[in-house]
Amino acid sequence: MPTQTFIESEPLLAERRALCRVVGELAAQGWCQGTGGNFSVTLDQGPLRLLITRSGVHKRHLAPEGLMVIGPAGRPVEGETGRPSAEALLHAEIVAATGAGSVLHVHSVPNTLLGEHFAAPGGFVLRGYEMLKGLEGITTHETEVFVPVLRNSQDMTALAAEVAGLLVEQPGLHGFLLAGHGLYAWGASLDQAHRHVEIFEFLFECAARRTPFEPFTGL
Ligand SMILES: [Zn+2]
Repeated sequence: MPTQTFIESEPLLAERRALCRVVGELAAQGWCQGTGGNFSVTLDQGPLRLLITRSGVHKRHLAPEGLMVIGPAGRPVEGETGRPSAEALLHAEIVAATGAGSVLHVHSVPNTLLGEHFAAPGGFVLRGYEMLKGLEGITTHETEVFVPVLRNSQDMTALAAEVAGLLVEQPGLHGFLLAGHGLYAWGASLDQAHRHVEIFEFLFECAARRTPFEPFTGL
């Protein structure tokens, strides 16, 4: 079987399988339907090397060959074929600014709605929830976590510059939202980044259910 031969001979197999397992769990929650979302693990901080999802891959069916290695500026390393996720540059920017071991980006219904609703003020506060303690460094529910919201854009260079600015201004962040689009969350390791996505999504579900959204205007 050609597919089996390819997988078994592929380098970084353990890292690829670990990332596929996490993405599969996120997909099972409905947080990256279809080709939505993109996901990376840091292989090297300097020079930067990230294992990241290829462009257009269905995330629920992600397999090791659906990942590729990119370098600085989100460009494929020598020997790689194909295109990385469209937002690869954002992953590279986040890792460069935070030293993250993994960056995970999901499109859930609550994070899409909250990002859209709180785009004008530029973010919102989560406070008082026990689950906040799942974010690294937080030890009590008696705290506030600000979730920044950046305007969505298809111009990745401009968006990456905005993200870089945000991470300089607010260096302690574990994640941010793109308005009407989704969550970027990260952590020191793949497990920590996974935990942060789960915690944020739980809290977003709570916040979304309590938010009086503006009516959908449609046509
Ligand atoms: Zn996205």
